[in-house]
Amino acid sequence: MIEGKIVAITGASSGIGEATARLLAHKGALVALGARRTARLATIAKEITHAGGRALACEVDVTRGEDMRRFVTCAVEEFGALDVLVSNAGISHLGPMSDLDVEGWDAMIDVNLRGVLNGVAAALPVFRRQGRGHLVTTVSTSGLKIVPTQAVYAGTKNAVRTILEALRQESTDGTLRTTSISPGFVQTELVDNVTDDATREQAQRRMADIGIPAEAVARAIAFAINMPEDVEVGDLTIRPTRQN
Ligand code: NDP
Repeated sequence: MIEGKIVAITGASSGIGEATARLLAHKGALVALGARRTARLATIAKEITHAGGRALACEVDVTRGEDMRRFVTCAVEEFGALDVLVSNAGISHLGPMSDLDVEGWDAMIDVNLRGVLNGVAAALPVFRRQGRGHLVTTVSTSGLKIVPTQAVYAGTKNAVRTILEALRQESTDGTLRTTSISPGFVQTELVDNVTDDATREQAQRRMADIGIPAEAVARAIAFAINMPEDVEVGDLTIRPTRQN
């Protein structure tokens, strides 16, 4: 059941996070939108509200633990609880390992891995207090099929996959659900900032050629949330039919 659920979404200023916020709000969820680009968040929240939904926009840098705690607190204060945290914010500094893009590696670890851990640390106490909660993360098929130029990116995604599985095993008292969504190529802004020209152009071409819309992933997230409380959708892979 999605109607009335309170859902906080990181990376809600574009792509999969934005599509998820719009879809869940359309289905009656109360959504808290977190990201750094506040102007975009404000526009999306306003459009959701004008369409009859309820949305809250919060400036959040997921690499900062205090930002995530503030984000969760804002959602709880505004809407009264937190049912689901969608830890979706992510970046992709793709490129061959031999480029030694150490700054890019650090940035991916900070956003894709530490960002999710900051989300767990912020949301888990609230979920435990409430006796219910659902953690959803956006990992990637790049952690399922290992390919060149995505080594560290895939590594961060698989670290999150591993952590969520361990958390699931530690949380079988029926109060916490965990879901890892693994999208393949999705048409978003994700690879627009890749600095290696050849890698960026190839990824953008693949996205344009076969990428599925962000709404397709949003529907997968909605599917997992919509399950009855005693049903946990652990892993979902959603990729273009033509992706190898
Ligand atoms: P986008 O680039 O469109 O969205 C990324 C989002 O993450 C933005 O809203 C951005 O907001 C946010 N973000 C980045 N850094 C931070 C930060 N430090 N703090 C808070 N928010 C941050 O790409 P996608 O929608 O594609 O990406 C969403 C997720 O899906 C990512 O985790 C990505 O790895 C994953 N994914 C995407 C695939 C694809 O093909 N597109 C495939 C598989 C997985 P802002 O810049 O405003 O902070």
